[in-house]
Amino acid sequence: MQGAMMDLRSDTVTRPTPAMRRAMAEAEVGDDVLGDDPTIRALERRTAELLGKEASVFVPSGTMANQIAIGLHTEPGDEVLCGARSHVYVWEGGGIARLSGATARPFEGEGGLMTLNDLREAIRPDDPHYVRTRLVCLENTHNRAGGRVHPIAEMAAISQWARAHDLRMHLDGARLMNAVVASGVSASEWAQHFDTVSLCFSKGLGAPVGSALAGSAETIRRARRLRKLLGGGMRQAGILAAAALHALENHVERLAEDHANAQRIAEAVVDTEGLSLESGPVETNLIWIQVDPSLGTAAEVAAYLRSHGVLVSVLGAQVLRACTHLDVSEEQAEHAADLIRRIEPAMVSAMTLVY
Ligand SMILES: *Cc1c(COP(=O)(O)O)cnc(C)c1O
Repeated sequence: MQGAMMDLRSDTVTRPTPAMRRAMAEAEVGDDVLGDDPTIRALERRTAELLGKEASVFVPSGTMANQIAIGLHTEPGDEVLCGARSHVYVWEGGGIARLSGATARPFEGEGGLMTLNDLREAIRPDDPHYVRTRLVCLENTHNRAGGRVHPIAEMAAISQWARAHDLRMHLDGARLMNAVVASGVSASEWAQHFDTVSLCFSKGLGAPVGSALAGSAETIRRARRLRKLLGGGMRQAGILAAAALHALENHVERLAEDHANAQRIAEAVVDTEGLSLESGPVETNLIWIQVDPSLGTAAEVAAYLRSHGVLVSVLGAQVLRACTHLDVSEEQAEHAADLIRRIEPAMVSAMTLVY
């Protein structure tokens, strides 16, 4: 059924391209837990270089990369300062508490993006009553803040402050390459402000599986221990690393096309009565949409779009998210935009009959 559908639910839905599949089929492999997989080693070196770090480790998911980082930087009872809408806080199953035994202190920030002003007073006193404040987690691009780019100047200021107070810094860079392409700031410029950085190959970059965590050689040596503990030690996973390497070679610059397609859809949202951009202007490939009750519910609008061949995510009673990616062409984005422009309350309310 979904073959004929235009799938805007997430940028994780991409299928490997024929060229990517060839690279996977031809990959040299070995047992990566034993350190024998040459393709994994090549990807880990390439990722470390891209991020300007000494080392990186390949892991099955962005969630695992982030949770390993939290485990590396904290001891049980320590406090993590993070965004109230951040992936590590909201969408990782409570892993901060469950896996690391750490506590989290969430900050709303400006539209979801934490600022130094939020954090200045956040460090707990050195007093036996308090938890030990230990780690700051930032996210770029920030998914639930509308896919926005966290301004580099703000990140630099937070990092400088954190280091002056002996706090560690982790960046959830699931979509860091989207931020790089949108801002022109290089990956290593972002990464220099952090002790560890995660990066997803399975989002806009279009690989089927895989993420990485980068940091100092010593940090990543410790990360391998946590990866094994969490069940993330994979064997002939070079077939996956080959896809990620192919993505880094071929799918980074084209993220600009996804951003342009997102603009096409965002313009249609702005033009349509009853719809608006939930998190302000779209900067990258995510379009968060607020549905006014006069038009219907988010589920009804999604059902209407689905009945016309377009899938979006329902992420709140009145909130939708659409994502552009490798498998959405300019023509398809235009088609989705036209469909959105034609939405009217009567069409949407007819959808209540469908489900
Ligand atoms: C998708 C995502 C992740 C990781 O997700 P996985 O599905 O575990 O790979 C982490 N952070 C953000 C902001 C994300 O959007």
